[in-house]
Amino acid sequence: MINFTVGPVQSSEVVLDIGAEQVPYFRTAEFSEIMLENERLMKEFANAGENSRVVFITGSGSASMEASVINFFDKRDKLIVVNGGSFGQRFVKLCELYGLEYSEIKLDAGKALTREQLFQYDGQGYTGFLVNMHETSTGVLYDMELISEFCQKNQIFLVVDAISSFLADPIDMSGLKIDVLITGSQKALACPPGVSVIVLREKALRRLEDYPTRCMYLDLKDALKNGERGQTPFTPAVGVLRQIHARLKQIESEGGAASENRKIAGLARDFREKIQGMPFEIVSESMSNAVTSLHPTTCSAYKIFLTLKDEYGIWVCPNGGALADEIFRVGHIGFLTTEDNDVLIKAFKDLQERGII
Ligand SMILES: *Cc1c(COP(=O)(O)O)cnc(C)c1O
Repeated sequence: MINFTVGPVQSSEVVLDIGAEQVPYFRTAEFSEIMLENERLMKEFANAGENSRVVFITGSGSASMEASVINFFDKRDKLIVVNGGSFGQRFVKLCELYGLEYSEIKLDAGKALTREQLFQYDGQGYTGFLVNMHETSTGVLYDMELISEFCQKNQIFLVVDAISSFLADPIDMSGLKIDVLITGSQKALACPPGVSVIVLREKALRRLEDYPTRCMYLDLKDALKNGERGQTPFTPAVGVLRQIHARLKQIESEGGAASENRKIAGLARDFREKIQGMPFEIVSESMSNAVTSLHPTTCSAYKIFLTLKDEYGIWVCPNGGALADEIFRVGHIGFLTTEDNDVLIKAFKDLQERGII
């Protein structure tokens, strides 16, 4: 099997080997040391700055999206949510559920956010901004410089779901004044699912003090207090956190986040060159390195997904709902090589010869 989905993705040997080991007890100095190093490396790779902190939540990326909404906002706030697909919609759902006042910038599938659309909300007393840096469902990477400029001008607290962008696209939390950044274990971190990560800059740490605790399991104040000694309030996904540690150390030894960015960008570029001339249209106006979203012009996207899976042992990523027949996605994150791209291209050519696409 070759896995080109956008998560869970393929892991390196080192990460796989840890997955085969017994899971150790964790209220120990040894595990604390691993967690403190995980925090240090996450801060470094996000360029979050010395005074930032990191919380590791046992729960997939959505748990950290929910944690960010309930720990930083309440009835005093007025939020902007960028909704360009199913992950933007998730932030909308959270705002609804928790009764927050919000405005939604709804974008058509594949469309980027423009300055005109954004600056309609200028000077109107908004206090919070929720955005998925890369709307993974359609493959759109938003202009973070633009969003950062807008939030700084309006003194808006900026929460960025970078779950599929972290390590795939350059992210500079300090430069962009991102207050909260979220990622997850099963995307470019290339570990099994089960852990998500929240990086908090100073303003976020201060803001937390102003907001009451509304959820026991996702209480960031509690998580931060325990994190000071490298621990978590509850039993975490110990095995996955050990795998994350190995992966972060591996990235560090290979040149850090920038080098990982280049590797993923290289794979994406290689794939995008090789599909030229094939009956696919690229969906997104502005692409992340993490994924290429394709609209097949001659066949159902879902049929391509099924045929590749069942007859070639290759997994691309299907889309759900209304886009199921329109779009499929090819991921460039995880333990993949350009030779793997060649295998996929060969399968596409075979599908063409068989008259399927
Ligand atoms: C994968 C992803 C998530 C999180 O999904 P989970 O299934 O909860 O891990 C959230 N936002 C984006 C942009 C994603 O790509």
